[in-house]
Amino acid sequence: MEKWVTSLGEPAFRGRQLFQWIWEKGARDFSEMTNLPKPLISQLEKTCELNLTTIHQIQKSELQGTSKFLIRLGDGKFVETVLIPEEKRVTVCLSSQVGCALDCDFCATGKMGLLRNLTSGEIADQLLHVRQVSERPITNIVFMGMGEPFHNYEQVIRAANMLNDDLGFSHGARKITISTSGLVPQIRRFADEGHRFKLAVSLNASDNDTRSSIMPVNKRWDISDLVKACQYYTKASKNMITFEYVLLDNINDSIQDAKRLQMIANQVFCKVNVIPYNEVAEGYARPSKKRISRFVEALEGSQFPVTIRWSQGDDIDAACGQLSTAAQGES
Ligand code: SAH
Ligand code: SF4
Repeated sequence: MEKWVTSLGEPAFRGRQLFQWIWEKGARDFSEMTNLPKPLISQLEKTCELNLTTIHQIQKSELQGTSKFLIRLGDGKFVETVLIPEEKRVTVCLSSQVGCALDCDFCATGKMGLLRNLTSGEIADQLLHVRQVSERPITNIVFMGMGEPFHNYEQVIRAANMLNDDLGFSHGARKITISTSGLVPQIRRFADEGHRFKLAVSLNASDNDTRSSIMPVNKRWDISDLVKACQYYTKASKNMITFEYVLLDNINDSIQDAKRLQMIANQVFCKVNVIPYNEVAEGYARPSKKRISRFVEALEGSQFPVTIRWSQGDDIDAACGQLSTAAQGES
């Protein structure tokens, strides 16, 4: 912003003011920017677009208070953003792409294929919309909506930096989590660049055959490549990784799976989130409560903590893996 306003012949501090108006104060109109000179405001009005995205629809879950925002992008495409108020935290789940190219067999977003990457502005804009509607302050931001964040690496990091910036949303880096299906080079890059955002990795299976059959990415980088990259990250950053393990009935939920998962995760400074599957794809089901508890009990005695994550908002298709927008218009 500083560079850009300087190119317009304005002093650099105007760039900081503009950034603050947009990302800290959430201005949706240049005329609100009262500390900017009038000629600059009219120049901005003529040459710039402030409303990059708009809220097309909001659906609220009666059961849990989760809200799903259908966001319309400038080119008529749509993404979804989810607001999840819980007792102690209020989480926003951001999308990073329209669709996803990684094609995990159990995931609704994967079934869309990849339509395009979002820009950093379109990613951060999702938060501005949700913030305006949320009754409580947002405590956690997770990149777990539509898309593979590390497949759109630069724009995601840029957006996370904007949200973290003191002149922007000032959201603590440790309260921003980026989730990846396991793109090994990007995990290493993330480690090398020393980002302080948290990292989650979707493991989802305990052996290569099963993982490759549900997550094609495993054919490129298998579990041992992934474990090495995770160890590289935890060593470089001194931060813990969260392994996500979506529990699929009769596919990855046996006692033997739990024991293999334990062996894998014991090699990494991590915690494990077990996510009972939200049913969206044919051929996959959520295990019974009994099988879920049996799996978690078999993990007892591990070196890592285990949490069961029941994702919220499944009555409005807003839970993990349910985000998919069929109507994708062009303008
Ligand atoms: N592309 C990234 C982030 C988005 S998906 C990734 O895959 O990590 C966020 C999480 O939801 C992932 O752990 C994914 O495995 C999980 N997920 C996908 N489909 C799901 C479903 N139907 N039920 C429960 N979790 C699901
Ligand atoms: Fe993409 Fe993640 Fe869904 Fe896999 S689980 S298809 S990586 S969004």
